[in-house]
Amino acid sequence: MIGADINAIAEQLKNYDGEEVRIMEVCGTHTASISENGIPSMLSPKIKLISGPGCPVCVTVTAVIDKLVELSMREDTVVLTFGDLIRVKGTNKSLADAKADGAHVKMVYSPMETVTMAEKDPDHTYVFAAIGFETTAPVYANVLNEAVNKGLDNVKLLTSLKTMPQVIRWVVNNGGGIDGFIAPGHVAAITGSDIFKALSEELGLPFVVSGFEGEQLLLTIYALLRMKGNKGIKNLYKSVVTSEGNIKAKEMVDKYFEPSDASWRGMGKIQGSGLVLRKEYEKFDAGSRDLDEDHMPPGCSCASVLVGKIKPSDCPMFGKMCTPDNAHGACMVSTEGSCYNYFVSGRK
Ligand code: SF4
Repeated sequence: MIGADINAIAEQLKNYDGEEVRIMEVCGTHTASISENGIPSMLSPKIKLISGPGCPVCVTVTAVIDKLVELSMREDTVVLTFGDLIRVKGTNKSLADAKADGAHVKMVYSPMETVTMAEKDPDHTYVFAAIGFETTAPVYANVLNEAVNKGLDNVKLLTSLKTMPQVIRWVVNNGGGIDGFIAPGHVAAITGSDIFKALSEELGLPFVVSGFEGEQLLLTIYALLRMKGNKGIKNLYKSVVTSEGNIKAKEMVDKYFEPSDASWRGMGKIQGSGLVLRKEYEKFDAGSRDLDEDHMPPGCSCASVLVGKIKPSDCPMFGKMCTPDNAHGACMVSTEGSCYNYFVSGRK
């Protein structure tokens, strides 16, 4: 594909008149980039782009939010989180609601701030809301490594860490009707592209590892169109992704975390699809195991949106009772959420 004439490819994608092709991007950053670059309007109506379960905030179950709220209300505990998770509703309230009620919730830009704050304030326990995928797991491992090296006992993680291959298998086996996958570029940068090889063989579907620029996405969609009906893996993001991934980051994750089953919003428990702290580091765990309960807000169709069964704009609440300023469900909260991106880009 190197040196490919992007204009000619764009023309072919616009005029494609073969069988309908359904392509899923599983990464929230790809979802955002597809919307920002207006990619759907550049494609033939016979090429459907489906957003998958790759937005970490969107797939976090209610029990995790409830646990964070409960921790934040303790006198001796401070919960630290990224900005978007703070607005996701738990059973009764979000972390933002809890903060308004006087609970100890702080928004941070880096998980490493947990260590800095804990060091300065030994009278409080600092809990980071460690949600995410293979991409962010090394960052959380580094936080723990720093806490261990500094001998800090007042640093903890409330983890809800997920891994991609198992949820992709789940989506395919549960009626996704997908012809090929835009494999997540950031995840692949850590895991390596080889992680999708066995999955492609097993599912008989093509995977293309893609960057996040508009042109890269068009090349990826074109590659998937040509690979339709065949298994196989192509890496079109070689400047960042290697076949074996980031060995150092993987070793760091492996030191602190082990595979586990994990609960996904709207999908239930998926075997082996998560990471939890190893037993020897459980003193750093703020109570992450067995947080499985999930209550979808009434009328919210996130469960169907997350696996590509319906488009966000098919949800009766979309753009009416649910907007980014007044989000009813998690998929409208995060800038990586499908509903959010459909809304802000005017995608139908
Ligand atoms: S539009 Fe809102 S209510 Fe509907 S699925 Fe999306 S997040 Fe849920």
